[in-house]
Amino acid sequence: MKYEFWFVVGSQFLYGDEVLETVEKRAKEMANELSGKLPYPLIYKVTAKTSKEISDVVKAANFDDSCAGIITWCHTFSPSKMWINGLKDLKKPYCHFATQYNEKIPNDEIDMDFMNLNQAAHGDREHGFIAARLRMPRKVIAGYWKRQEVQTRIASWMKSAVGVAFSKNLKVMRFGDNMRDVAVTEGDKVEVQTKLGWEVNTWAVGDLVKEMSVVTDKEIDALMAEYGEKYEIATDNIEAVRYQAREEIAIKKMLDRENCVAFTNTFQDLYGMEQLPGLASQHLMSEGYGYGGEGDWKVSAMTAIMKAMGENGNGASAFMEDYTYHLEEGKEYSLGAHMLEVCPSLASADKKPRIETHHLGIGMNEKDPARLVFEGKEGNAIVVSLVDMGGRLRLICQDIVCVKPIMEMPNLPVARVMWRAMPNLTTGVECWITAGGAHHTVLSYDVTTEQMKDFANMMDIEFVHITKDTTVEALEKELFLNDLAWKLK
Ligand code: MN
Repeated sequence: MKYEFWFVVGSQFLYGDEVLETVEKRAKEMANELSGKLPYPLIYKVTAKTSKEISDVVKAANFDDSCAGIITWCHTFSPSKMWINGLKDLKKPYCHFATQYNEKIPNDEIDMDFMNLNQAAHGDREHGFIAARLRMPRKVIAGYWKRQEVQTRIASWMKSAVGVAFSKNLKVMRFGDNMRDVAVTEGDKVEVQTKLGWEVNTWAVGDLVKEMSVVTDKEIDALMAEYGEKYEIATDNIEAVRYQAREEIAIKKMLDRENCVAFTNTFQDLYGMEQLPGLASQHLMSEGYGYGGEGDWKVSAMTAIMKAMGENGNGASAFMEDYTYHLEEGKEYSLGAHMLEVCPSLASADKKPRIETHHLGIGMNEKDPARLVFEGKEGNAIVVSLVDMGGRLRLICQDIVCVKPIMEMPNLPVARVMWRAMPNLTTGVECWITAGGAHHTVLSYDVTTEQMKDFANMMDIEFVHITKDTTVEALEKELFLNDLAWKLK
């Protein structure tokens, strides 16, 4: 889907045709120039002067799949009662861009005509009131439209809005159920579909095994060549690697046939398969598909959404699991990994991920599964977890700093990422556990906490952010108040 955003400019008839023509001309100029700077086109739609014009553009936006959101601005004053009916119907993400055509007040030129034409300072306040009064979820971005940091903020919001559009059409394919007895990977699929749009359904592992049996040697040869280009094949057990290629091709065919962009499986249900898909899942993730281990469909869907929000639709966002800690004083780190499935988009660029085969004791693997082994890159990142609190969804986001792993761990047969959680390891863990965050997360170097907050806001779900300044005491109070607020909503 090629997404675009619509620019809707507020005005009124009071000023006469000449002013309205100027507003329209300038709005088109701004939309065109911004389209060249932003990740998605901004299409000028209307200089709205009546309730009907606003309702019409909102209705059109709601039913146009390519429209991922609307951006409004009031060049002049635009009385807001005429916006009520339209805004009440709006189903798309909404950004109020409080900007101004001119950067500076022209000392000699300014008179009452200039003031009446250039009164965004006035018009945007009237416009902002009505959205506040209607309790509308919206993003307010203020600043001069030609300034880069202002454009960066609009770009960031656009990506969140695209995450929303992506989420509303997202289908998850589950092979097998959730891991037996696990609580945090469970959730209300009806509630999730109502809030986030996800269709989460199950397919038999037997269907996948059947699909695998008709994959041809030629198809496997082609994928093996791709593996050879992207990765270092560091095993003599080529048959095991070819088996992963067979699994990947079969999974991809089923996903594409059903328009699913995310999937789950579980080591407890591999009936008829020789290996848990490792390399297969890792390579599929690197192509933008979401994945969750142990049947965790929430993390699978969030992985796909955050990949879609990232650069080029496939940012460095990946399924992750908190595994073990290094608690040496002054060098406290978390070690993240999974039993196989870490996306190579996280890999540090200096070394190709290695394809290795090792014994895997967990699950029903008859043969040693092939997997990619690598170190995660350094940099600021976030970890994100969506949990079902019973009656509502909570999105938890923690700031982290990824480091080059401080040791080689030569006997660890999986990809690994090491990080320091904010505000520090132990307080960070106390906050995460207090909020009920899962052991599975999406780790992202691309998507920001502001984007996840905007996403939660647009989706009307709870957002909890653990930052360098968070204390357990303040967080407990916030969660207590959130609980009350969400019961009233
Ligand atoms: Mn897991």
